[in-house]
Amino acid sequence: MSNPFQELFDAQKANQYALANTTAKERIKKLEALKKAIMVTYKEDIYKALEADLNKPRVETDLTELFPVISEIKFAIKYMRTWVSNNYVKTPMSLLGASSWIKYEPKGVSLIIAPWNFPFHLALCPLVSAIAAGNTVVLKPSEMSPNVTDIIEKIIKDLFNENEIALVQGAVQESTDLLKLPFNHVYFTGSPQVGKIVMAAAAKHLASVTLELGGKSPTIVDSSASLKTAAKKIVWGRFANAGQTCLAPDYVLVEQKVEKEFIGALKNAITDFFTEHPMQSEHYCKLIHEGHFDRMKGMLDDAVKSGATVEIGGNSDKDILRLEPTVLSNVTLVSRVMQEEIFGPLLPIVTFNTLEEAIEIIQSKEKPLGLYIYSSKNKNIKYLLDNTRAGSTCVNNNLIQYSNHYLPFGGSNNSGIGKVHGFYGFQEFSNARSVMKQHTFGAIQLLFPPYNNFKKRLTE
Ligand code: NAD
Repeated sequence: MSNPFQELFDAQKANQYALANTTAKERIKKLEALKKAIMVTYKEDIYKALEADLNKPRVETDLTELFPVISEIKFAIKYMRTWVSNNYVKTPMSLLGASSWIKYEPKGVSLIIAPWNFPFHLALCPLVSAIAAGNTVVLKPSEMSPNVTDIIEKIIKDLFNENEIALVQGAVQESTDLLKLPFNHVYFTGSPQVGKIVMAAAAKHLASVTLELGGKSPTIVDSSASLKTAAKKIVWGRFANAGQTCLAPDYVLVEQKVEKEFIGALKNAITDFFTEHPMQSEHYCKLIHEGHFDRMKGMLDDAVKSGATVEIGGNSDKDILRLEPTVLSNVTLVSRVMQEEIFGPLLPIVTFNTLEEAIEIIQSKEKPLGLYIYSSKNKNIKYLLDNTRAGSTCVNNNLIQYSNHYLPFGGSNNSGIGKVHGFYGFQEFSNARSVMKQHTFGAIQLLFPPYNNFKKRLTE
């Protein structure tokens, strides 16, 4: 049976060279138009769509959906001319007379598959990098956030021809069909399980991949940390978007002697942010769908059954898809909350007495997307950095490392392959083509056969 997206793919393939040869000025114009569509024409619709899909407060939409995309666009506009110009490098003496440079050419026809948790931002940020690098794009957002997908579709139809950028609505079947086509690059954001399926499908065509995945991001709080501030930052990092954040602190390892004080500070921060009744708070998001609610409830019940204490929260309401910000202590390492990526509003607390104990727990798990250290001791910070692995780390805060476009963003192995944002995102959608140009006269005679008098020729 023929592939339902074959015609679209062929149209983009036929257009790829025309697009590749667009100038920086032309690409900047496209990004300016995209910025205007987001910030002027469709801004109100974007707010409403995020309210409908995730009950996202407007300020949170500003901070976590619009701002990341707009700053990615601004950064690309600022540096695009440098990125697309030939990057000259040294040429060794043995190649005297030649010059060498790197030409960043677009990979070609690319596919972006996006998740639902930051449905606008995580579909649009890679799109910005792909446009900056001169690729055609088929974008497949998540079926779980249909209102946001509709708005993105409108924006794309408004600004681009299908042979340049097209949006495909759909779920697993549509992704599977798309992945059968020989895209030059596949950019996937989602779970490690599906990441493996995507990579296997891409391997059939030797398509390059960017995999932005998830995992359990540990957060270490030692007794030298400023507990009150740490608690506020961790509560924000964990419970914004109702915990449905890939980079969120997934579990806290706290030094035993300050556990009680730290839990008290968490409680104060939760009440300050979301009141005594967080499920009614307009500042608190909902879980995406019933399946996800059931998964969260199942994890909570499993933790309690295996001996965990609910220190804060624990109540839920399936009708409104809310689960209170919930903090658990006395958690066993074999319970689901310490085995699976949580991706919701549960925060398990595990204690340690020595940093070695904390490191042993971290090292026993897959490499995380983020790792957070709260400490005022440089020795401890260095020791933790040297003895753990992670896609990124933030010391004395969480999540905000994501917003520095001069830093590469991405995971490591199970939490992802490839680095994005700013130049790194541009690079991910580009082939660094090596070019060497030699003069037209003469040649390096030594390279040519016959080689029988090679030594003699070398000394001549
Ligand atoms: P998911 O893997 O279930 O789905 C992501 C996308 O893949 C969706 O568009 C979906 O339609 C598609 N998909 C689902 N099953 C598929 C299959 N069998 N074949 C092909 N395509 C398929 O992820 P999700 O539930 O949308 O998002 C949650 C996960 O994403 C978490 O693990 C989270 O940590 C991760 N995530 C990572 C980042 C990052 O930047 N590293 C950002 C956000 C989310």
